[in-house]
Amino acid sequence: MPRKKLIAANWKMYKTPDEAKDFVKAFIPLVAGNKHADIVLCASPSLLPTVVEAARNNPIRVSAQDMHWLDQGAYTGETSPLMLKALGVTHVLIGHSERRQYFNETDESVNLKLKAALAHGLVPIVCVGEMLAERESNQTGEVLVRQTSIALSGIEPSAAAPIVIAYEPVWAIGTGRTATPQMADEAHKIIRAQVAKSLSPEVADGMRILYGGSVKPDNTGSLCACPDIDGALVGGASLDAKSFASIVANSAA
Ligand code: PEP
Repeated sequence: MPRKKLIAANWKMYKTPDEAKDFVKAFIPLVAGNKHADIVLCASPSLLPTVVEAARNNPIRVSAQDMHWLDQGAYTGETSPLMLKALGVTHVLIGHSERRQYFNETDESVNLKLKAALAHGLVPIVCVGEMLAERESNQTGEVLVRQTSIALSGIEPSAAAPIVIAYEPVWAIGTGRTATPQMADEAHKIIRAQVAKSLSPEVADGMRILYGGSVKPDNTGSLCACPDIDGALVGGASLDAKSFASIVANSAA
C-alpha cells in the first residue's frame, strides 16, 4: 500500500485568532483540488477552537503542538488529551525540538505522551532529529535510534498504525539550511529500520515519516520525491496561506 502524503503546518507561537481564521478562509479554496495529501494545521492552544471551527466540513485536520500525558490534574499551564479531544482536535505534535531544547522535554516524556495520544485516539506526530554538533560528530544514526526506540517503547504493534514520525534535524529548523534530499532520505531509512525493530516490519512499512527543516515551496518537490519521505512538517513557510498551499501542491510525487 503506498503511503499517503501528510503535510503539516507548525505555526509555533504565531497568529491571533483573527489571523488564524483569515488564514483558513484563504487557504481552503487554494487546496480545494488536493487529493494526494492529508493536511494538518498545528496551532497554539489559544487558537484551537477558532481553527477547528474555521476548518469544519473540510478535510483539513487540526493539531495541538504539545500536550500533557495525564487526563487532568494540578499542572498549571498544561493541556490534556481529554481537552484536545473535546475541542475536536485530531492530531498532536510530540517532542518538537523546541520543546526538547527550551521546555525540558525528554525521550521518556515523549514516550508517555505518545502512549496517551494513542489511548485517546489522537494521531501523534512524534519529532526526532539531531543537533548540529551530533551530526558533525557522526552521531546522527545513534541519536535517531535512541529517540525513536525510547518514543516507541512499550507500544503494541497492533496499536501503532496512527503514529507519524517527523525527522527534523535541529540545525535545519528556522535556519534556511535544509537537509539535502539524500541526507533526509538516509535519516528516514534509519528511523524506519528502527520502527521495524521496535514494532514490526509491517508497521514500519506503513508508517509515515515526514521531513521538517526549512521546507519551502521550491524544495518540497525534491524532498517529497524521495521514497522514504512521506510529507513535510513546515514551520516558517506555513504561516502564509499561498506559500503553504504551494507546498501541499508541490508534495505530489
Ligand atoms: C518546525 O517548526 O517544525 C520547522 C521545521 O520549522 P521551519 O520550517 O521554519 O524550519
